[in-house]
Amino acid sequence: MDPKPPSPPHVLIFPCPAQGHVNSMLKLTELLLPAGLHITFLISAKDHDRLSRFTTVHSRLSSYPGFRFHVIHGLYEGPIDTDEKLNLMLIDSLPKVTTPLLRNLLLDSQVTCFIADGILGFALDAAAGTGVPVMFFRTVSACAFWAYFCIPDLINSGDLPFQGTNLDERIVNVKGMEGFLRRRDLPSFCRSGLSNTTFQEVTNITRRTPDAHALILNTFEDLEGPILSHIQKHCPNIYTIGPLHAHLKARSISKSTSSNSLFQEDRTCIGWLDQHAPKSVLYVSFGSIATLTRDQLIEFWHGLVNSEKPFLWVIREDLVSSLDDENKVPSELEKDTKERGCLVGWAPQEDVLTHSAVGAFLTHNGWNSTLESIVEGVPMVSWPFFADQQPNSRFVEAVWKLGLDMKDTCDRRIVEKIVKEVMEVRKEEFEESARRMAKLAKESVSSGGSSYRNLDRLIEDIKKMSTQSN
Ligand code: UDP
Repeated sequence: MDPKPPSPPHVLIFPCPAQGHVNSMLKLTELLLPAGLHITFLISAKDHDRLSRFTTVHSRLSSYPGFRFHVIHGLYEGPIDTDEKLNLMLIDSLPKVTTPLLRNLLLDSQVTCFIADGILGFALDAAAGTGVPVMFFRTVSACAFWAYFCIPDLINSGDLPFQGTNLDERIVNVKGMEGFLRRRDLPSFCRSGLSNTTFQEVTNITRRTPDAHALILNTFEDLEGPILSHIQKHCPNIYTIGPLHAHLKARSISKSTSSNSLFQEDRTCIGWLDQHAPKSVLYVSFGSIATLTRDQLIEFWHGLVNSEKPFLWVIREDLVSSLDDENKVPSELEKDTKERGCLVGWAPQEDVLTHSAVGAFLTHNGWNSTLESIVEGVPMVSWPFFADQQPNSRFVEAVWKLGLDMKDTCDRRIVEKIVKEVMEVRKEEFEESARRMAKLAKESVSSGGSSYRNLDRLIEDIKKMSTQSN
């Protein structure tokens, strides 16, 4: 009798239930499936429902017989825009609800390898003793990861907690960032004091990364090589395989954009963009979590109108907590907004950034948004909200020279000045560096490029694990 053919490798993938995390880990999934891997993707009931309603992800993935969603019920599903709410999900709900589920899946489902979101440290505990190797996928940049990783060193050196209120004080104890890092560029949690639970949680989780079998990052060597070499001293087995969305296109797995939006996209803005001259429009979006106070909204709005650039602005339903119908468009700005503005609740962002009319991106520098801008060669104006976005925006300005960082302020005069600086005064300079970086990004995911090779290596390594466990 012929021996039973070995079963294909089975990978369990588990993202933190938030837009940026689900998006990039679904992209990872779509890159792994064509290699014949079987994948179980853990997803919250709310996100599963939203993906069904707003994307084609189900039909895209159901063409692979080895793919299935495993829906998690009973998770906290509210907003995560404050430390308290983030903790409710990260420290309370997620570990409580999913630890027993993970144990069952890891023990009973013949899992070859568990790719867990690296922000979910309890995944390591859940896998302990099961014999299943855990790979951490961090959805943030290498520079943000490294800043988080160095926090215990900053406590030892006395840089943390901050003494005094000067956020411009230099930080020289993060290797590779000595020349340009200021207090204000550290992850936002560093501002809240050492007893802050989110600060402690993210620091502890990040420090546990070397306990994982490997670290997978959505970045590429030409962008973050020097920082990666620092990380590698602690986490020797790193796979940099990004930018993932460009990687999917480069491998012709997806010809068009594979949207993983948890919100309904308003595609009318593409028609609006079609009516505009090349590189004339400022695209404005602060991602899925960031919120603005009403004052900040009004300052941004005046600044945008006063810059006299056409603007496409994503104003999510919950972007401003106190926005009511009566004051949606400030009356003094109504005429200019009608003439030059397009407001949507959620945009097909990847398609927007690909559009020739877009000349710059006013962004919160979430890592997905930053990479999407980099791949399309769109210069940035940075207004980071929280977490990894602060180091990202510093790198955008000081290291990659892809735009200007206006963190911690949104005075209307500053908004106007910086937008003009990026789109007029220093337009060519930023366009040139953005073009150069876009080329490197695309090369990295083309056949023979660093991310392309690293993905092949990741797939081979997972297949080897499967042979060993069969
Ligand atoms: N996004 C989108 N439409 C929008 C705003 C955002 O499709 O109107 C997508 C964007 O393309 C990115 C993701 O949502 O892939 C946001 O992730 P990011 O890491 O930039 O920020 P987060 O939402 O996690 O703060």
